[in-house]
Amino acid sequence: MHYYLSGVLTISWVFWIWGTYLDYRQYRVYVRTKKLPSELEDKIDVDTFEKSRAYSIDKVRFGFLSGIIGQIQSTLVLCFFLIPYFWELSNQLMNKTFGFTKSGTIEWEIFQSLVFTFVTSVASTLVNLPLSIYSTFVIEQRHGFNKQTAAFYAWDKLKKFSVSFIISAPVVAAIIYIVRNGGPYFFLYLWLFCFVVVLLLTFFHGEIAAIFDKFTSLPAGQLRDRIEALAQDVKFPLSNIFVVEGSKRSSHSNAYQSGMFTKKRIVIYDTLIEGYHNPEDISESESTDRNVSASNDCKQEKSTEKSKGCNNDEIIAVLCHEIGHWYHSHLFKHLAFAEMNYLLIFAIFSKLYNDPTLYSAFGFYEERPVIIGFALLMMILAPYAELQGFISTLLSRSFEYQADAYAKRRGHAEKLKTALIKLNIDNLGFPIHDDLYSTFNHSHPTLIQRLRALDKTD
Ligand code: ZN
Repeated sequence: MHYYLSGVLTISWVFWIWGTYLDYRQYRVYVRTKKLPSELEDKIDVDTFEKSRAYSIDKVRFGFLSGIIGQIQSTLVLCFFLIPYFWELSNQLMNKTFGFTKSGTIEWEIFQSLVFTFVTSVASTLVNLPLSIYSTFVIEQRHGFNKQTAAFYAWDKLKKFSVSFIISAPVVAAIIYIVRNGGPYFFLYLWLFCFVVVLLLTFFHGEIAAIFDKFTSLPAGQLRDRIEALAQDVKFPLSNIFVVEGSKRSSHSNAYQSGMFTKKRIVIYDTLIEGYHNPEDISESESTDRNVSASNDCKQEKSTEKSKGCNNDEIIAVLCHEIGHWYHSHLFKHLAFAEMNYLLIFAIFSKLYNDPTLYSAFGFYEERPVIIGFALLMMILAPYAELQGFISTLLSRSFEYQADAYAKRRGHAEKLKTALIKLNIDNLGFPIHDDLYSTFNHSHPTLIQRLRALDKTD
């Protein structure tokens, strides 16, 4: 076995052991913690606490299972040289299906790479399907979160697959073209190209998201007025406020702001708004005696479920936190950090992509396809990716504190606190964490950390 290959395998197992160890530490916390921390004692009832424990234990056990399966899969892929196998398979597919014969041109490489991307995506989707189905229809279902029907799930998977292929195909083609034609400094052009792609994806995030979920403009009412007033007050370039029908998918709740420049939008999950009913659904199914009003001040106690979601004050506090991310340019800081990484990775790639030892170690003896070179490089750079992920997590946690502090400065600390607790309850988050696990895994500070930070007097 070549040292490149044995190195990649060793590193991936070391990281797997480390990740599993961290998960185990958190698992122990789930099992052993019998009491709520003092600041939450009167806010979360015992029943909810036990439910969140059961949900968390189920999730982490599933994580152990899917983790080891994934690890064995990737080991088999490398040991049995499945990457060159699929590369050759895509060649044969083109041969048999389209009657094309292989040539050494760039066009051919692009074509074969696209077929390869398609074939490997289909294969990995199929292989991971049982675990994905189990997670949605057994675990999420058991704890009352799954709202998807089998048909919705299948259609959604198909859409995700198609959209990601349609977006990635031209990007893959362009990358190969740039590498092959860009001369000695191709990595700079590649970097510029990827920069533009990332900006475009950020800019059109809303349009892409609309393919998967139903976005309804938040109807006029108290909530909308207050959000618009907040935006105007802080000069947030709000273009629209949407409610996304997350409830068709799952009852987990959230809110975010997206888009760039003057095209900023605020998106609120319908599950975040207490008592929210889609106005279209109301007009379809109920008589007109209830005014179509999305403001959640309507008091509908009809549902037998314990009421979920936040009231207007709390939603405003949550959105103020989201606007805090915009105010501190967190998106651009994240982008800048990612761009630095791209530049470094592309520069390393430009040194390595013609190295025959790299390719032959993984079973490519005659060809050195660009797309394969990238895949191999990413495996070799796994420790670097791990480090980059860790720094990104640290960055993201500090941004969360900053956004919370912003909401606090604008007088929303108390409502943000109750909102965070409600969200934690609605999403059945377990409120206690192992420090080491949290340091490496959490992109957000834990509930307790956020409450304490909001309580601190400046
Ligand atoms: Zn945030």
